[in-house]
Amino acid sequence: MAIRGVKSFVTSVALTQIIGFASAAEYWQAFNSSINPLNITIPQIPQTTSIDPTTECTYYNPDPSLFNVVASEWPTSWDIATSNGMNTSAEFTAVYNSIDWANAPNISVRTLSADGSIDMTGYDTTNDPDCWWTSSTCTVPKLKDVNADIYECPEPETWGLTYDDGPNCSHNAFYDYLQQQNLKASMFYIGSNVLDWPYGAMRGVRDGHHISSHTWSHRMMTTLTNQELLAEFYYTQKAIHMATGLTPRYWRAPYGDVDDRVRWIATQLNLTSILWDYDTNDWAAPTTETVEQVQQSYDEFIQMGTNGSMSTHGNIVLTHEITNVTMSLALNNLPNIMKNYKHVVNVAVCSNISYPYMEKTVAFPAFAEYVSQNSSSGGAASSVLGSNTNGGVTATGNAATQTSASSDASILGAPSILFTSLLFLSSVIYF
Ligand SMILES: [Zn+2]
Repeated sequence: MAIRGVKSFVTSVALTQIIGFASAAEYWQAFNSSINPLNITIPQIPQTTSIDPTTECTYYNPDPSLFNVVASEWPTSWDIATSNGMNTSAEFTAVYNSIDWANAPNISVRTLSADGSIDMTGYDTTNDPDCWWTSSTCTVPKLKDVNADIYECPEPETWGLTYDDGPNCSHNAFYDYLQQQNLKASMFYIGSNVLDWPYGAMRGVRDGHHISSHTWSHRMMTTLTNQELLAEFYYTQKAIHMATGLTPRYWRAPYGDVDDRVRWIATQLNLTSILWDYDTNDWAAPTTETVEQVQQSYDEFIQMGTNGSMSTHGNIVLTHEITNVTMSLALNNLPNIMKNYKHVVNVAVCSNISYPYMEKTVAFPAFAEYVSQNSSSGGAASSVLGSNTNGGVTATGNAATQTSASSDASILGAPSILFTSLLFLSSVIYF
């Protein structure tokens, strides 16, 4: 079904800006979107096989009837999210003022060295007072009332499937493969990419992937001020909601650079960090690492599925959709991953997170439910209660495939859809 003709109300946004928020956690209720996450149709988009970004993304300029992006309401793409005057916008000021900063931890803003790496001079790595992952891989906060990181899948023999840095405007062939294999990944989207390529984010939701935040400008988060951190989180939430109608409850720090100050601010926005315990370094190929080196990492992690390493818990593996190199590595290795691991699932499923979004309109199956669905032979996912009819993304070109126009309801393990949100119903009208 087409979603053209959907109109949305913006009055609640203005109202909230005037009165502020009763609590910081309510900020997302003022977001506006013309996209119904339960019924996403993506316009027909030809796909090229080019690896030249200017060519491959030619067809992805968003339809202005779907996304009326007013530049003055957004940070500058790829700049720190306080840019373009966003640090003083009414909506950001309301969110900022809804937080009790007197309780914020007194932890230093880190600095970068001349070579761009983070400067750890003077930090007490042994005692690690700030639970700074970059220094110690600490994942259990030293502060109380701060959300602890997720860094591995608790389920044995399970590969936690994650892809960072999307949406990539040339990812259709990759997403087609995931769809054909009925694989649902955790996708960590960069706010600037979402605003540039909203169809990519729409497809992520439509295909049943678990969408999380990966910040607005992909900076080392511990080097940003409190205000900059809040803006990085807030405007990415706003962008993902605009493109998908959903607001993530989970995020991943670029480079894993998170400490208790960053976690505290994320927690104010009801965001929890998802890290990883195995890193393929795929993003570095073919520059600072060779493709062969990345393949060796993949091989090592794949073997762990059968050599007993995963007998008591699963992993979360860091991989990327950032370039055609990383997506090709994923396509080449997924068959062996599926062969060597009993389960290949996203982090929401392996962690039994039913509601990975602020909106309760989309629910994910528990791990046991997901596994039992996938081990049965065909049939619709029983947990799909609503309709989530999708359209296809038409792909052309040599290596392209065409996505099916079937309903997500026929895809096993698709998130179940629950019509429970009055907020959603009150913010969108169908014509
Ligand atoms: Zn990243």
